[in-house]
Amino acid sequence: MKLVLASVLCLFFVSSALSQTPLKPPTESVMDRFFRYVKIDTQSAEDQNTVPSTRKQLNLANLLARELTALGAQGVRVSEFGIVYAVVPGNLPDNSKVPVVGFIAHMDTSPAVSGANVTPVVHKNYQGGDIVLPKDPTQVISVADNPVLKDLIGDDIITADGTTLLGSDDKAGVAEIMTTIDTLRQNPQIKHGMLAIAFTPDEEVGGGIEKFDVKGFGAQVAYTVDGETLGEISNETWSARTATVTFQGKSTHPGTAKGIMVNASYALADYLSRFPQDMLPETTEGRVGFVHPYTGTVDVEQSTLKILLRDFDTSGLDAKEKLLRDMVAQTQAKYPRVKVSIDVKENYKNMKEVLKDHPELTENAIEAAKRAGLKPYIRPIRGGTDGSDLTFRGLPTPNLFTGGQNFHGKLEFNSRRGLEKSTETLVHLVQIFGGK
Ligand SMILES: [Zn+2]
Repeated sequence: MKLVLASVLCLFFVSSALSQTPLKPPTESVMDRFFRYVKIDTQSAEDQNTVPSTRKQLNLANLLARELTALGAQGVRVSEFGIVYAVVPGNLPDNSKVPVVGFIAHMDTSPAVSGANVTPVVHKNYQGGDIVLPKDPTQVISVADNPVLKDLIGDDIITADGTTLLGSDDKAGVAEIMTTIDTLRQNPQIKHGMLAIAFTPDEEVGGGIEKFDVKGFGAQVAYTVDGETLGEISNETWSARTATVTFQGKSTHPGTAKGIMVNASYALADYLSRFPQDMLPETTEGRVGFVHPYTGTVDVEQSTLKILLRDFDTSGLDAKEKLLRDMVAQTQAKYPRVKVSIDVKENYKNMKEVLKDHPELTENAIEAAKRAGLKPYIRPIRGGTDGSDLTFRGLPTPNLFTGGQNFHGKLEFNSRRGLEKSTETLVHLVQIFGGK
């Protein structure tokens, strides 16, 4: 018994000496920081010709720039597109021996649900069961739809009040990165190389990242901090193309149309009827891709159909494109007087194609999450990230968890542990890179 106790004590000592020396807390907790940021309305808007799509995103951008400067960051600037850039100097004897690691989060919230007057609500010491949001009892975060709740017993869960989204996507990422910088400043004993920081607008509407200055950012590797469940790391997205099928008919006055009018709508209807039912978003999940006719115009003279193609493998995506082209040929044969054509554009590619050559990015993230006491795992994303784009522009960028759930809706939530453990993971991550 004594012996066991002694060895337990000894173990405790060793581990506390190595990794559990209490850190000085940041000047502001990640929770408090998160609450301040979500109260700033930064909703982006679709179909704008400017970046940022909404001026109000600059309110948060300018605030973050001031706070970064106060936290000792250097080269802080807000670009003409509202992107915040900064550098956190390293404190190693020779910082040039380790890579400059980038952390990126987006400031905007989804156009789907209002982000104005967000009132975060803390459900302290959650003891299980469904969570009814106070300002709208029809908004319920149920255990049935959110099995992750079972892992949050005893945690303080953070939701909106039922009238807005929470904005955890991605102000959790912003707050976690800022708190990491704050923590590093309070604890110079934590050794790390130079860090590059960026906060981007318009991620939700897909315009911001095109304006990202990869070279000026200065990182050799980076992470977007924009994911979900604690421990979930994504080094793979699917690849994405968009097809536009055009059906060219001939319009004429219907009173004198006999033998002249060619109504393109029927060809479009024929084409739509050919989609395989087992290859649609509503019938697929996991690593299975899909084709998805999602919008179009119905018109006698010219009808159009837009289709999303998604697959984790290029060969699978090629096969889906071939299917759509074959369907064009079939509809064309059936409607010879309508001219049917298809145009396919590439949107983004699976970042794994590049990240497979940088295994240390995923390995270090896994190690950092383990050191934070989490059980890390890899999950391919059924979507794109800003990291997909950056990865193919020369900056390998996998995605890290933020603790958030139910993005883009009123049922969005995060938790105290979600915010704190995500931050802790980032602090470990910079140490791991610093130690190599
Ligand atoms: Zn996001």
